[in-house]
Amino acid sequence: MESLAPNNPAAFNSDQKEYLLGFFAGAMQRAVRPFAGYTAAGLLTDDPALGSVNCAEPAEETVHGTPASDLSREELWKYEQNPLDIWDKIIAHADEDRAPEAEDVFRFKYHGLFYVAPAQDSFMLRLRVPGGIIKAHQMRGLADIAEQWGAGRADITTRANLQIRAFQPKNIVRVLTGVQALGLTSRGSGADNIRNITASPLSGIDPNELIDVNPFALALHHYILNSRDLYELPRKFNVAFDGGGTISVVADTNDIGFCAVRIGEGRIVPAGVYFRVLLCGITGHKQFASDCGLLLRPEQLIAVAAAMIRVFIEHGDRTDRKKARFKYLVDKWGVDRFLSETEKRLAFPLLRVSAEECEPLSQVNRAAHIGVHPQIQEGLHYLGVSVPVGRLPVNQMRALADIAEEFGNGELRLTVWQNLIIPNISSERVDAAVGCLHAAGLDCAAGAVLRGTVACTGNRGCRYAATDTKTHAIELANLLDARWKIDQPINLHVTGCPHSCAQHYVGDIGLLGAKVKGEEGYQVVIGGGCDQDQGLARELIPSVAYSELPPMLEGLFAAFEELRNPSESFVDF
Ligand code: SF4
Repeated sequence: MESLAPNNPAAFNSDQKEYLLGFFAGAMQRAVRPFAGYTAAGLLTDDPALGSVNCAEPAEETVHGTPASDLSREELWKYEQNPLDIWDKIIAHADEDRAPEAEDVFRFKYHGLFYVAPAQDSFMLRLRVPGGIIKAHQMRGLADIAEQWGAGRADITTRANLQIRAFQPKNIVRVLTGVQALGLTSRGSGADNIRNITASPLSGIDPNELIDVNPFALALHHYILNSRDLYELPRKFNVAFDGGGTISVVADTNDIGFCAVRIGEGRIVPAGVYFRVLLCGITGHKQFASDCGLLLRPEQLIAVAAAMIRVFIEHGDRTDRKKARFKYLVDKWGVDRFLSETEKRLAFPLLRVSAEECEPLSQVNRAAHIGVHPQIQEGLHYLGVSVPVGRLPVNQMRALADIAEEFGNGELRLTVWQNLIIPNISSERVDAAVGCLHAAGLDCAAGAVLRGTVACTGNRGCRYAATDTKTHAIELANLLDARWKIDQPINLHVTGCPHSCAQHYVGDIGLLGAKVKGEEGYQVVIGGGCDQDQGLARELIPSVAYSELPPMLEGLFAAFEELRNPSESFVDF
């Protein structure tokens, strides 16, 4: 393809005209996101971290205090050329239809572009879908992009996000501008950035929630997109907002988890809904986020999130990638010093209040992301749709968009369980909506294992993977559901390497991919959980070839059925 920007506009060739027409047609359907309403009021704007360093300026001798000579390889790449400033390079790669060099493979991830060789000789695009909420026309537009240039499907991720796979270098500009024309973005979805902001997927419709947290996810999403310094992190960073309702957003697996709590009358602060702050979840390193002792008012969340992230930017390790995650800064300093550094960037004091002052949280319902359930709004229901391991072919993407528009309000909500929710369906139309789901080969019923099964990309699309995680996860879940009728959800987490994108340590059953005597196989861990069932899974089998795994798991289920007492869950086993 020739350059998309010739000097003489009259000189557009047919390829360029096709691109431009597509772009403007998409722009006409652009989603208008409402202003989230929450600001970063209280954040000091003379923050020393703001604008202090431009990684793109070679004249700088240090990057946030680290001498250039000590920087890790990836930090050097960022120092030599700011990854946000490579649009010309992206266009050139598209023009020449060629793969990027190693340092640009890294930089391209700042735009959500993942070159996934040798698993595939192509690109994957990861979006940002704050709070997991996407509109029907956006889902339909993504289906068009996936069909025209990709693998004909999208994958729902464990951050309630979407990925489009297997498009060629020559199409990267088309795909990127295509998603932007839909009102979506992929900026900062990979590499050393704040990843997709997650929120409880039933926000605003949940009969049990304490507060609608989607406005916070949207506010932080936009704050990041419009704050260039927040793309200077030493490593990736995850933030979640939990409204204290029915479905978990696994906030305790995030670097920062903001969790709603209620404080009753007669306590140290006026009664109402506040937020606890959990810090340093990183389950691949076997650590949950833990309560740091703060109590925040809702209007303080965005300022505190931005201040904490800026402390990390300023002081995180840039010399050793293995020590660069947020947890290592807090480990080195201790929570007290980290909070006092955060406080320096705020115009209000941080309130330290014991978690015992807060009312206990209601139990999450581990089954409620699947099935038909009433909303808090009288006469409305949501459908929790099973999407095994998050794989969505384009025909089902379009069918879901049609159902959301025909029966709901045109909204679809992705979950961290790689499923999705269609909200706002009136009671009398639920049966018809479910019928349309069935006609599309989808369902809002699933077995106890399949409904709680998540899997990372695996070796069909990720170079780190030792195994075909998604295929194995579906095979195992279907086998166990067919054979055993368990009366509680069982979470099966299948991950292809120690990066643990599918968080195997928090599954009832966790599988970590490995080569076993030349075959694909797994380490098996059991008994993990999140939230009130929080616990790291323990090793059951150090390594087993996949071909030998089904009978072993059947033996595990048989023992569970035989030995448990009636009140015992799989987590206790
Ligand atoms: Fe790839 Fe490993 Fe993440 Fe799976 S866990 S997607 S194999 S990096």
